This record gives sequence, C-alpha cells and structure tokens, in this order.
Amino acid sequence: MKNIAILGSTGSIGRNALDVIRSLGTDYSATALTSNSNWEMLAQQVEEYHPKRVAIVDGEGGRRLKERLSGNSVQILTGEESIEEIVADANINFVLSAIVGAAALPATLTAIEHKKNLALANKEALVMAGGIVTERARKKGVTLLPVDSEHSAIFQSLSAGRRSELRRVILTASGGAFRDYPVDKLDKVTPEQALDHPTWKMGKKITIDSATLMNKALEIIEAKWLFGLKAEEIDVVIHHQSIIHSMVEFQDGSVIAQMGLPDMKLPIQYALTYPERRPASVEPLDLAKLGKLTFAKPDLQRFPALRLGFWAVNDSGTLPAVMNAANEVAVDAFLERRLKFTGIVRAVEEVMHKHTNKKNPSLEDIMSADSWARKEVRNAIR
Ligand code: NAD
Ligand code: MG
Repeated sequence: MKNIAILGSTGSIGRNALDVIRSLGTDYSATALTSNSNWEMLAQQVEEYHPKRVAIVDGEGGRRLKERLSGNSVQILTGEESIEEIVADANINFVLSAIVGAAALPATLTAIEHKKNLALANKEALVMAGGIVTERARKKGVTLLPVDSEHSAIFQSLSAGRRSELRRVILTASGGAFRDYPVDKLDKVTPEQALDHPTWKMGKKITIDSATLMNKALEIIEAKWLFGLKAEEIDVVIHHQSIIHSMVEFQDGSVIAQMGLPDMKLPIQYALTYPERRPASVEPLDLAKLGKLTFAKPDLQRFPALRLGFWAVNDSGTLPAVMNAANEVAVDAFLERRLKFTGIVRAVEEVMHKHTNKKNPSLEDIMSADSWARKEVRNAIR
C-alpha cells in the first residue's frame, strides 16, 4: 500500500496527482495533502479525497480551513514547519514534492532524512542544492524518482543501456509561448501572452519559465544531478510538438526516446507505480494523425536563458542557486507588471555576473547565496 503525501496538492501537478491516485485504485492513497495558502481548494480536496492529515503554511488560511472543516475528522496542521511534520509522519511511505520554487527544499531534505520514497516534480530544490540532495539520498538509500516529463523520459530511456555506455542526453524543449514571436517585440509582451503555453497546461511560474526558456536552463541542472552528468553530456533541441519528452544517446550511436502526448499524468503515474507500469487513462499516441515531428537548434539570441543554464551547470557551486533565486524574484515582478518580459533574464544575468561563486557549497552557503540574489534583484528592479 502506498500512503502518499502530496506536497503542493492544490497546484497543477498536485491536482493531476490526485486524479492519478484515484484512478490507480485501492493500493494507492492520498493520505496527506499540503498547500501554501489556498484553503478553499484544500477544503474541497479533503471532502473529495478524504486524506488523514493536511497542512497549510499560511496562518490565516489555516484558521479559515479549520472553521470550514469543523466536524470533519481530518487533522489540520498549520505554519512553517507543518509540511515537514507531514513528511516525517510514520504513516507516510511515499512523498510527491510538487511545491513550486526553492520553498520545496526543506521538505525534500526531510523526506530523505526519513528515508521516504520520493518523487520530485519540483526542480528548484535540485537546482539550488543538487549536490547535497543527491549525496544525502545516496547515503540514505533513497531513489529520486523524476516527475518532470523530460527527466522521466531520460530515466526510462536509460534502462536501455549501461550508465558507462551513455554518450549524452538530449532534452527537448517546446520553445514556449514566444517560439515564433518577433524577437524585437518581446520586451512588450504581457503576462497574459506569456501564460498562454502552446502545448502544456501548468502553474504560472513554470509557464513563464517556459516562455523565457529558463525552465530548460533549470532542467539542464536538474538532469546533471539526477543522472550524474557532466555539463558537456547535456544537449537541448527545440521540438515544438512536445511528443518526444527527451532522449538518450549511447556510445554506439543508438538514440532512445520516450514519447507520449503532453500530459503530466503519464510521468506522475510512472513515478508512483515505478518499477511497475499500470494501465492509464491518458490518450494514446497516434503518430499517423500527428503527421510530423520537428526539431531545431535553440536560438540563443531569442533565448539567452539557455546560455545562463549552461554557464551555471558548468561552473556549479552557488551559481545555480543564484540563478534560480534571481529568476523566482524576477518572474514574480513580471507577473506583477513591475518588470518587462525581457527584463527577467537580464536581471538574472546581472546578478550572476555580480556573484562570487563558491564551489562545493554547504547548505548554509547555498541559503545565503539564495537570499543575497533575491535582495540584489529586488534592489535592481526597484
Ligand atoms: P503550481 O503553482 O500550480 O502549484 C504550486 C503548489 O505549491 C501549490 O499547491 C502551492 O500551494 C504550493 N506552494 C507554493 N508556495 C509554497 C510555499 N512557500 N510553501 C509550501 N507550499 C507552497 O505549480 P506547478 O505547476 O504544479 O509546479 C510545481 C513544481 O513542479 C514546480 O517546481 C514545477 O517546476 C514542477 N513541474 C511542473 C510541471 C507542470 O506541468 N505543472 C511540469 C514539470 C515540473
Ligand atoms: Mg519539464
């Protein structure tokens, strides 16, 4: 029996995961759910999925939730540490991290500390502190199961050969909302335009990251840590249809790809049922109907974020945490119309240039680089 804690159940991945868990039947249970502040949706989820415990970080949200669910037997935890308490619970044997941003790091480390099976949708924690997360997971014997579609594809494709036989991995990128938009007009685009993703339906932050291609920059670093890759073993190709979710190339030139329609239910279910596969309700792939798949080299002038991703993965140290933190602040500023779209990557690059990189960082070094970068971007935007 898998007793699952979904961290970030009110988000895009979290809601998909609840659907998947229901469709998997009685061996899988959404035993605990967490949210940052969305108490209304969390209350609906309690009524629909009957978890034993829920956690909500926001105090006021917690008060409203308790009021709304008075009489319900669910246990409600609130406050900063409530999510870690949920993760450490002895009844939980599987954790899905679907929180957005750096905020997922403490719960990720707690899950590893308590030797929980751990599926990672969240990528920012790995980008910031991948060295520490993977080292602690190795020591505790915890397998990190990727949910991000590209990394799930690589994880699945890698089983076609030995690690020592691998030549490189090729991450596919849809190109986001502005893949064909005139470059000289990108500084005028609005949050509404940027939030209109051509192939995937996702949370706001990752949709903006997809439009700048910062998402791919983060995914390069995510891949490095998940699969123990060197920077030069990671490539990116633009693939508009999002049918090939990523590929691996072996020494003999064989390229193994994982394909499917762009539906996050597929990688979520694979991580939950691994190492088994179960029938799923996702639509089957009809290649004849699709007709053609296209590929192109990424244009670094249109997508300077990708350059930053390769820089960060190459230099490593505290630089990826700086890139990630600066991006989180800049994306918020763009969504609040305090920064132009093209200002996001510009702000991130400026902060990366200013940063004195520290190699082999401790968790403290990473957290202080993260705070430093956030402050720098806030000041720059002001
Ligand atoms: P989302 O914005 O839709 O949901 C985020 C969830 O995290 C919500 O439940 C929210 O309550 C919770 N949360 C936000 N801030 C928090 C905080 N400070 N503390 C605790 N909880 C907090 O995001 P999403 O699109 O579901 O993405 C979640 C993660 O999965 C991201 O890291 C994203 O990069 C990754 N991911 C998402 C997709 C997708 O299809 N949405 C695909 C691949 C990877
Ligand atoms: Mg992805």
